Formats: sequence, C-alpha cells, structure tokens
Amino acid sequence: MTAFVASFLHLESQELVKYLLRETGHLHRGQVNPKDLLDYLKLKYLRFDFMTELPKEAKETFVGTTPRAMISFHDRLVATDVSLNPARTTFSVLHEVGHYILPHHQNTLYVCDRKGMSFGTHLLFEREANEVAADLLFLGDRFDLESNSRPVSAGTVRTLACQFGASFEATARRIAERSYRDCMLVCFSNTSSAIIDAPQNLQWNVHYCIPSASFANRFFQKLNSGSVPENVFAALSEEGRDIERSERGELPIVYHADLQPRRFNAEFFYNRYNVFCFLTPTGGV
Ligand SMILES: [Zn+2]
Repeated sequence: MTAFVASFLHLESQELVKYLLRETGHLHRGQVNPKDLLDYLKLKYLRFDFMTELPKEAKETFVGTTPRAMISFHDRLVATDVSLNPARTTFSVLHEVGHYILPHHQNTLYVCDRKGMSFGTHLLFEREANEVAADLLFLGDRFDLESNSRPVSAGTVRTLACQFGASFEATARRIAERSYRDCMLVCFSNTSSAIIDAPQNLQWNVHYCIPSASFANRFFQKLNSGSVPENVFAALSEEGRDIERSERGELPIVYHADLQPRRFNAEFFYNRYNVFCFLTPTGGV
C-alpha cells in the first residue's frame, strides 16, 4: 500500500498577504505603502536605468523584451526600472515582494520583464507573483467591499484606481473579477500597425475577457471575436478626453447557437493603450 504523504501546514498566498498587511499596519489604511512592506521584510529598494546599469549577463537574457524589476535574495535588494510610471512602479515592487514571500520562490535572483508581469502570462511563478501583487495593491478584501457598493462603470474604475494607487487596467479587471453582480470586462487591443495606419483606421479586436463568476455562470465565459465600433473609438480618442467619459450603448451578442442574440448594455472606455468595455445584462445589474 502506498504511504500517505503529509506536509507541513501550507500557507496559502492569500493568508500570507493578510498577515503581511496586518503586520505592516495596513488594516486601516486607504492605500498600500510599498515602503512599509519592504522595511518590514528588511529589503532595500533602488530605482535605476536597467538598460545601462544591469550587469551584462542579466541583460543578455532579455533580448527582445524589457526588464522592469528585479529582486536579489542575497543582497536583499528590490529594484525597478526608472522608465516605469508610479502605478507600474508600485505594482512591480509588490510583484517582487510576491517572489520574496512565496515559499517555493526562494531563488538567488529574479529579473522580471514586461511580458512576465503582464496579465495572462503563462509563466507560473510570474503569475503567482502577480496575484500576490494585486492582492497587496487592493488590500485583500477591502477592494471587493468598495467596488461592490458602487456601479460597474468607468467612473468607478477612475475613482478606485486613484484611491488604491493602481492602474486603470488592473482596477477594471479587479472590478469584474470580484463582482457579485453579472458583468464582464472586455479588453480590446489594437491589432493593426500604427506605423502604416492612421489612428482613425486602427482595428480594436477582443484581446481578453474577465467575467464575474455569476456572469460566466449565467451567460458566457468570453467573446471569441468582435471589435470596437469605429464611431465609438472616434469619440473615445478625442484629444484630452478623460477615461470616465465613456460611450454607452447596447450590443447584440450571440452566445448560444439555438438562441436569438441577446442585448447587453455596453460601456466603452479608453486608457490610451487599450479600449475596454463593461458588459452588463439589459434591465440592470
Ligand atoms: Zn517576477
């Protein structure tokens, strides 16, 4: 008979996050302070230009991609690239904290690039570190309470991104992911060449979808195809237009071969990198 294998108490990453937030006095704060986390973990922090100052061997592993952040366990050092904006810098520091606190991530060095730190990376360790970063950034369950007491809208994305010091995209994703209501975030990315095409001719096609649990249960998991209507993008891309000035309408969506298309409320908004849309069933959420 094969022996049963016991293991030590496995601390889930969410438990580690909760512990770290509690120990660093974040229970009653409105926004995460990466410096307090680094101090608590006795990690030093530096910000420098990776392309000129990283050792040659480290740079050679990054042909064709852009390193953004690193952690050296031996030096107890976290560093981020100078080119990152404040929201990305915070996320990158929290990502490295993720590598540091996750028990099986103990390594000598991680140098993390844009691809690994992006949503949907296929690299397991990078994905796990991203999850810890998002849980720290949104203060565990705190975000869920805030977002579920507000409408699912571009206005809420703006408000909560500012409140939590997060990017618009990470905030929009979290709203859909953690929603108790029926909603889906659709992200559209630009698939044509900006060099050849004039901005007004850019095609914005479905890149990824995040349904809330109840939306996925009741309707569908993702859109296989679809693009942003040209007139909608023309309006969203007006000079100086704020993210919360969205475009609202209704979209007919076919999601079952035997059913007629069903209409959904669609609110489109644009963060100057991607176009997003919140889908909600008509008749309110
Ligand atoms: Zn990483």
